[in-house]
Amino acid sequence: MPQQEEHQNTKNHLSTQIRLLEEKLKAEPRAVHLYHVLGELHERAGNNDEARKNYLLYLVKSLDFNRESEAIAALEKETEHQPSNKMACLKLGEIYGLLKQFDKSETKIHRGTTWEVSESPHYRYHMVPGSTAHQELEEIKNQWESNYQTVLATLKLPTASKPTGHDHNGPDRHINYYFYESRVHKGVITGDSQLAHYLVAKNEVHLVYSNIRRASGLHEDCHAILHRFYNPVKLLDEGVALFLEVGRNMHDRFREIKGHAYPILQLLDDGFFENSDLFISYPQSGSFVGYLWETYGIDRVKEACQFPNLGQSLHQWKSIFGISLDQLEQQWLQSFDKIH
Ligand SMILES: [Zn+2]
Repeated sequence: MPQQEEHQNTKNHLSTQIRLLEEKLKAEPRAVHLYHVLGELHERAGNNDEARKNYLLYLVKSLDFNRESEAIAALEKETEHQPSNKMACLKLGEIYGLLKQFDKSETKIHRGTTWEVSESPHYRYHMVPGSTAHQELEEIKNQWESNYQTVLATLKLPTASKPTGHDHNGPDRHINYYFYESRVHKGVITGDSQLAHYLVAKNEVHLVYSNIRRASGLHEDCHAILHRFYNPVKLLDEGVALFLEVGRNMHDRFREIKGHAYPILQLLDDGFFENSDLFISYPQSGSFVGYLWETYGIDRVKEACQFPNLGQSLHQWKSIFGISLDQLEQQWLQSFDKIH
C-alpha cells in the first residue's frame, strides 16, 4: 500500500473513532472518563486544541463541577483558606495549564508540590501528600517490588544483594520514583510533559500516576535496571523495555505503521531516535528488538546492550548475531510477510 494512502487510512480510522466516541458521550454524558479518551484520540490526530478542551472537560467534570469557572472559583477559595491542601493547588494548576494560563499554572503547581518520601527495599518513592500515588502507596510498593523481580528474571540478570541505602552510585542503589498527578504537573516541575521518563545520571524515574492513568512502572524499571549493567543505544533500551512490557503485541503495533518505518541504521543514532516520530520509532524498536530476542535469545540482545555506539561499530552486529545488521533487518521485515 502506498505510504500516502496508509497515512490517510490511519487518519480516517482516528476520525471514525472520534465520531463514535462523541456519539457515545451524547448518550452517556455522565461517563466522564470518555472525555479523557476523546482528548487522547484528538491528540493522536494532531488536534491539540480539541485535545486540551476535552482534557479540561474531563478534569472539571471529574471534580464534580459543570463549568471550569465554577471549578476555578471553588479551588481558588480552597487554596486560600486551606493552603495545606496540596491537591487543590495541583488541580487548579492543571486547569490553568489546560487553559494556557501558564504563569498562574506554574505558581499553583509549585505551591502544590511538596514531596513526602517513603521506601521499600529497592525503591524510594516521592509523592505529593494526598495524591493518588500517596493514597495507593502500599499497593504501589507491592507492585513495584514485584516489577523489580520480573525485570531481573525476564532479562536473566543476577539478583542484586542487599540494597545499600542512600548510595546512589552503589550497584544496589534504590531507584528514585517521582509521582505526578498529571502531565501538566510533570511538565511544570520537570520540563518534560511525557507520561514518564528516566534520568540515567540521577537514577530517577518521573511519571504520571493518577486515577485515569495508573502507570505500572515496569517499563521504566526496565530502563533503570538495564542501565546498572549495560550502556545500550536508545533503540535497544526502548526496544527491550517495550517488549518486556507489552510482549508479542509489539509486532501487531509495528504492523500498523510498517509503511513508515525508519532504516534501523538511522535509529541507532540516539540523536536521530530522540527527534524521530515516537509513534513510529517506539513500535519499531519494540518489534525489532522483540524479533532479536525471540530469534537469538536475550543473552545476545544483552551483549549488544554493552555497546553505546552500535551505529558506528557495525561489525559488532555480525560478531554477536552471526549476520550483518542489514540481513537482520531484512529477516525481521520478511517475518511479517510470512505471518500474512
Ligand atoms: Zn522507555
